[in-house]
Amino acid sequence: YHGGMTAEGRVLLAAPRGYCAGVDRAVVTVEKALDHYGPPVYVRKQIVHNKHVVETLEQRGAIFVEELSEVPEGALVVFSAHGVSPAVHSEAEDRGLRTIDATCPLVTKVHNEARRFAKDDLDIVLIGHAGHEEVEGTSGEAPEHIQLVENPSDVDKVDVRDPSRVVWLSQTTLSVDETYETVTRLRERFPALISPPSDDICYATQNRQVAVKEIAAESELVLVVGSANSSNSVRLVEVALDAGADASYRIDNASEIDEAWLEGVTTVGVTSGASVPEDLVAGVVSWLGERGFPTVEEHRTTEESLIFSLPRELRRDLKTAA
Ligand code: SF4
Repeated sequence: YHGGMTAEGRVLLAAPRGYCAGVDRAVVTVEKALDHYGPPVYVRKQIVHNKHVVETLEQRGAIFVEELSEVPEGALVVFSAHGVSPAVHSEAEDRGLRTIDATCPLVTKVHNEARRFAKDDLDIVLIGHAGHEEVEGTSGEAPEHIQLVENPSDVDKVDVRDPSRVVWLSQTTLSVDETYETVTRLRERFPALISPPSDDICYATQNRQVAVKEIAAESELVLVVGSANSSNSVRLVEVALDAGADASYRIDNASEIDEAWLEGVTTVGVTSGASVPEDLVAGVVSWLGERGFPTVEEHRTTEESLIFSLPRELRRDLKTAA
């Protein structure tokens, strides 16, 4: 199928895109654990929400499990970037497991806020998606103080003890615009609403949304590389549509592109979620290059330089070995 393709077809690449500091750290943690301790290295849940990353680590000897009960006594287990509740930490301790915590420091920050506000006995409204691992972990810090709100219309259901003592927190990977709407609704109901000391939606989520908005305004089609369970990737599709793209699809890799999507399209925007290795994006760009979109322009909205050091328990072992 070759309808609508012209020689002038171009690709607009959003930047920043792809790996954030927290994902990079989590993936390197599993790689170094495999090198240093040797396989098997157990990982509770997907280390990051990307199919390709998980399969690659599996080939190297990582074993992904849903629950700690699947990990043999005394084995080494890595906690994923999305964080775990205190109950999971104590279960690991009870079972004598060796643990490395690859929780992103920006998720840990939200856990700390939840603990602190619960200690102050505030009602906490956590904005996030039910069932997402990060939300389960954060809620587990203060289950009796936290209630989940998924979108602006959920705000009506919020039930608090004292309307003057309510604080909101959020998942790190939400839509900035939708969260703003939810907070506005919350503030209408609770004018004394307390905000977290700094943004919970992380820098990487925010930067990728700003960048996709810029390319979406100039693209008929926006392709977002990322896995279906990746919250920030799914958000990028929504943001692209809101920002003016006629169509936007999430794909795991180039093989999932449908050529019919290119019909009548002269500019394709491309970006990727925070858990996506750059070679998958390169695959998409070269697939497009072979189908009438040879020109590639990168639109960069900001530079990123944040790097996190590896989990302390791993650094200590690597140092002793050196
Ligand atoms: Fe951390 Fe944000 Fe990356 Fe999640 S998306 S791992 S919170 S930097």
